[in-house]
Amino acid sequence: MRLILLGPPGAGKGTQAQRLVAKHGIVQLSTGDMLRAAVAAGTPVGRQVKDIMDRGDLCPDEIVVSIIAERISQPDAKNGFVLDGFPRTVAQARALERMLHEKGLDLDGVVELKVDEGQLIRRIESRIKQTLARGEPLRKDDDPEVLKTRLDAYRRQTAPLIHHYREKNLLRAVDGMAPMDEVTAAINWIFAKPQPQKTSTKSATAQKTKQKPAKAVGRAKNAKPAPREPAKAPARSAKAGRSRTVAKKPAAGKTAAKAAKRSAKRR
Ligand code: AMP
Repeated sequence: MRLILLGPPGAGKGTQAQRLVAKHGIVQLSTGDMLRAAVAAGTPVGRQVKDIMDRGDLCPDEIVVSIIAERISQPDAKNGFVLDGFPRTVAQARALERMLHEKGLDLDGVVELKVDEGQLIRRIESRIKQTLARGEPLRKDDDPEVLKTRLDAYRRQTAPLIHHYREKNLLRAVDGMAPMDEVTAAINWIFAKPQPQKTSTKSATAQKTKQKPAKAVGRAKNAKPAPREPAKAPARSAKAGRSRTVAKKPAAGKTAAKAAKRSAKRR
C-alpha cells in the first residue's frame, strides 16, 4: 500500500501516518523528520536547509526529491509506505510519479486532511503549551510567526496538489478536525479491502443487492454516486473505486461506519 497524506502543518498527518504504519505494516516516510535528522547530524544537506526550515519556508525540490528517491528504494519500503509531508509542490509530485513509474509502482490514494485554519492555529498553540508544560524543547518552527509562513507556503505551493490528485482520481478528503479516532476510522474505511464475494446458490440479483454497500456503510451524504467500474479502468482508479464501492464493512465495524459517514467525503 502506497499512500500520501496531504494537509497543512498541524493537521494530524504524523499521527495518522503512525496509525497506518501499525495497521498495514508499511513505513512512514516523513521528509520533515528526515530533514530534521540531517540538521541535527550537521550533514551538508542539513546545513543547507537549516535556515530555510527555521523560517518555515519550503526546502528546494531537488533536495527533498533525492532524499525520497533514496528512501523508497530501501528494502523496508518494499511493502509500502505512507508519505507524510511529501510531496509539497507539483514538481515534487511529478518527480514522485516518475520514480514510481520507473519501479512499476502505483499510488493507492491521497488523503487530504481538511482543516479549519483558525482552529489549526489554536491547536498548534495548545501543542506548544503542552510541550512546554512537559519541559520538552520546542521545535524552532513551532512559533506563531513561523506557523504563518508555513501555512502560507501550504496555501501557495502545496494546496495545488489537491487539484493535481483530484484530476488523477486519487484524492479522498477527510475531515481533519474530527476527533483523531474518527479520522483514523474514516481513513481505514477509504482503504478497506473489498470483501471476498461469497459463492452461493442465491440468484445473481440477490447477490447484487447484497453487494450494494454504500448505504450500509453510510457513505458521505454528499458523496456522488459511485461510478461504475469502467471496463478498462487504469490500475489506480480501479483500486480507489473498488475500495469505495465494494467495501461492505469498514475495518473497525459500526463505529467506523458512523465516523466515516461524518468524516469521509469523496470530492
Ligand atoms: P514537517 O515536519 O513536514 O512540517 O516539515 C518541517 C519543514 O521541513 C517544513 O516547514 C519545510 O521547511 C521542510 N520540508 C519538509 N518536507 C518538505 C518537502 N516535501 N518539501 C520542501 N520542504 C519540506
